[in-house]
Amino acid sequence: MPDRMPVGDIGDALIRRGDRDYDGARAGAVWNGLKPERFPDAVVRPASDQDVANALAYARSHGLRVAVRSGGHNWSGSPLRDGGLLIDLSRLARCRVDPATATATLGPAATGQDLVAALAPHGLAFPVGHCPSVAVGGYLLSGGLGWNSRAWGPACADVQEIRAVTADGRTVTCSESENGDLFRAARGAGPGFFAVVTGFRLGLHPQPASVMTTSATFPLSEVGGVTSWAVRAARESPPCVETALVLRASGEATGTSPAGPRISVAATAFCPTREEALAALAPVHACSFAASAVSRQEPEPTSFAALHAGAGSLWPPEHRYAADTLWSAETYHALLIRMAGVLADAPSGKSLVLAPVQPVPEEPAALRNMVFSPLGESYLVCYAIWDDPAADEANARWLREMMAAADPSGCGGHYIAETDLEADAHSARRSYTPADWDHLQELKARWDPESVFHTYLTP
Ligand SMILES: Cc1cc2nc3c(=O)[nH]c(=O)nc-3n(C[C@H](O)[C@H](O)[C@H](O)COP(=O)(O)OP(=O)(O)OC[C@H]3O[C@@H](n4cnc5c(N)ncnc54)[C@H](O)[C@@H]3O)c2cc1C
Repeated sequence: MPDRMPVGDIGDALIRRGDRDYDGARAGAVWNGLKPERFPDAVVRPASDQDVANALAYARSHGLRVAVRSGGHNWSGSPLRDGGLLIDLSRLARCRVDPATATATLGPAATGQDLVAALAPHGLAFPVGHCPSVAVGGYLLSGGLGWNSRAWGPACADVQEIRAVTADGRTVTCSESENGDLFRAARGAGPGFFAVVTGFRLGLHPQPASVMTTSATFPLSEVGGVTSWAVRAARESPPCVETALVLRASGEATGTSPAGPRISVAATAFCPTREEALAALAPVHACSFAASAVSRQEPEPTSFAALHAGAGSLWPPEHRYAADTLWSAETYHALLIRMAGVLADAPSGKSLVLAPVQPVPEEPAALRNMVFSPLGESYLVCYAIWDDPAADEANARWLREMMAAADPSGCGGHYIAETDLEADAHSARRSYTPADWDHLQELKARWDPESVFHTYLTP
């Protein structure tokens, strides 16, 4: 493929179905080892806004519906659709920091890891996604529940401006004061967004001088007591503490406990000093269940890079995944007790449930001017993680059983970034308040009246 696409002509740059490079381009568009059986007519990898506009012009003139990909981390493989043109933005991965204004400008394919590495030397930080390889494109468009989001808010709250190429091929700037309706949609619409974002400008935070973490792990049989204690402790902790419960299908034997499923509680404090971090972690560290812990980690210093390294091992590459989310009006205690029984029967010992307690600030002001919204008191994500293709069906079924156990009435909401878009025709709609969903439909009709772009993936 040529390095740059000639202006006004993308014919030579297309990788068409049947071309030698097509299978690699198709499979490489999705990070999940489980590749959807969906086949675009062609893939193109633009290197500039003009290239994107040319690709859109080509798609319109050839009647090809457009799908967009930044880092390919959507669990359902949303960038891969049948037919049409896939615009793969992986070449737009620049990442520049301006310490004077505490801002960064990024291409959509830059990853959280890229951003952390660029910010560290300037003493700046950002609520990057928990896993290092997640690209900012789909993450920011979905809302972005990242490190320290409980204090800093969802990552999209720090998006100051986007540059986007619209369905009619115009390159527009969007901010609170310019194309404000598209800007608001870009803060939460996720895999149903109706323009191609080619750049983000982000506001940054001072790097917390002391980041400390502590954790404790218990047999899953303790799920009820551990959850009640941990959720109470998490809610007592100041907003700079991020607390998550992790339920795992398997855990190794220790001197005091046989191998089996586990529940862990991990808390991380993002503070100006070590003393403040230790004080902030005290409610979680003062664990009333210490006697039944399989293992405990005393509070110790960490960093965004180290947190990324740890989280990266939860989601190993080259595995097969299915994931789904739930916002619920029920307590964590009720949800996790019901899920624990099904978790123990997981076909894969690598599968897990992640339940971050109160993952975003409670103040409504932190969530203004965005379509991302927390849709319940409790939030969790369930991941089926396996590597044997023969076990695809069993793992997909298990995930649905887990979600049915968590939400038997089917009344819960979803978080669009990680929801199983193919589980239900209404998974996307149920990721928004009714008013935001209706507004998104109006904006889609205004900005993409001819449906140049695919909308949300459905079963
Ligand atoms: C290992 C792992 C860990 C994760 N951890 C977190 C986490 O901690 N917090 C969190 O909030 N989420 C997390 N996620 C979910 C993640 O935020 C979403 O999957 C997100 O879509 C990833 O961005 P992406 O650019 O790779 O998406 P892609 O798969 O490339 O794109 C998904 C969809 O988003 C739209 N899109 C993407 N880029 C653009 C663009 N530039 N312009 C227009 N539309 C676009 C398209 O509709 C596309 O189909 C995680 C995912 C994985 C795989």
